[in-house]
Amino acid sequence: MDFQTLADKALRDEPLTRDEARAVLCAPDDELDAILDAALRVREQHYGRRVKLCLLLNAQSGICPEDCGYCSQSKISTAPVQKYRLLPQEKIVERARAAVDAGATRFCMAIAARGATNRDIEHLGEAIAEIRDDPKLCHLEICTSLGLLDAQKCRDLKAAGVDYVNHNLNTGEQHYPKICSTHTYADRLETLRNVQSAGLHTCAGGIVGMGESIDDLLDMAFQLRAMEIESIPINVLIRIKGVPLQIAQPTSAAHALRVMSLMRFTNPRAEVRAAAGRERLGELQSKVLWPANSLFVDGYLTTAGEHHTDVQKWIEAAGFEVEVAKQEAGVSAS
Ligand code: SF4
Repeated sequence: MDFQTLADKALRDEPLTRDEARAVLCAPDDELDAILDAALRVREQHYGRRVKLCLLLNAQSGICPEDCGYCSQSKISTAPVQKYRLLPQEKIVERARAAVDAGATRFCMAIAARGATNRDIEHLGEAIAEIRDDPKLCHLEICTSLGLLDAQKCRDLKAAGVDYVNHNLNTGEQHYPKICSTHTYADRLETLRNVQSAGLHTCAGGIVGMGESIDDLLDMAFQLRAMEIESIPINVLIRIKGVPLQIAQPTSAAHALRVMSLMRFTNPRAEVRAAAGRERLGELQSKVLWPANSLFVDGYLTTAGEHHTDVQKWIEAAGFEVEVAKQEAGVSAS
């Protein structure tokens, strides 16, 4: 396979065929550099060599009634995670300040819940108002990850000043019942449609390494394209003792990079984000920047991550640059 022809198609916004997409995921490791170089051409067209940093806040932790088999906060997990209800607003704003100090331009607030209540949305809305009123913080892109959401809740989030809503597909439709039984893939699609109908930007991606097949990953990639998802985080399953899916086969770094590259080819204009687990790619970690234009710093929901100063060093060493907010760069943010 000549992967540059796939880059040419992506640069013309043409969809890959399923066979072409399969060829990316099934390529031998000695073709990885060719895949990454082709993905880089597409990435550079839309994002240059810029890297957007994102910072997460686990705003409500460890008390979820759902049974997602990959999650340390689920009701079936025995992993020792912190348990607390929605954080007070000052803690939320404090973490937004940490995001700016870390050089992040997106701040993502997540809660462990089946879905946010009206009261949760009101509470987060008050914190967002404080963030928007602070001249040092107001430029942050605000993302929330709040579980299943109906149309009205999405409209309320839009009114509260939220920019993006994250709700991952996680895997392909066929595989979904093997990783979760308390809600369905269709429920997830419905939430994403509600997000779009409210005029919010969409963030939805997946997790590699949950025992899925190549076809499951292809299904997910094409579903994300069909829905025109704008921000696609790709996680590599972190194996945590007490979490049911810790027993799945580990993912190789090369496979994770092929999946991220596929997302770049099938969703060329989307932000592709190397999310939790990227640190497990070892010496190949910096290669995530060939397909991905965005990274998380300073930890994940329940696991530690790399400190932002270390991340900034390897970003620069790999020949990329940390993106600054439009406002900081002297460009009107309007
Ligand atoms: S809904 Fe979210 S927090 Fe709850 S178990 Fe699933 S992934 Fe974890």
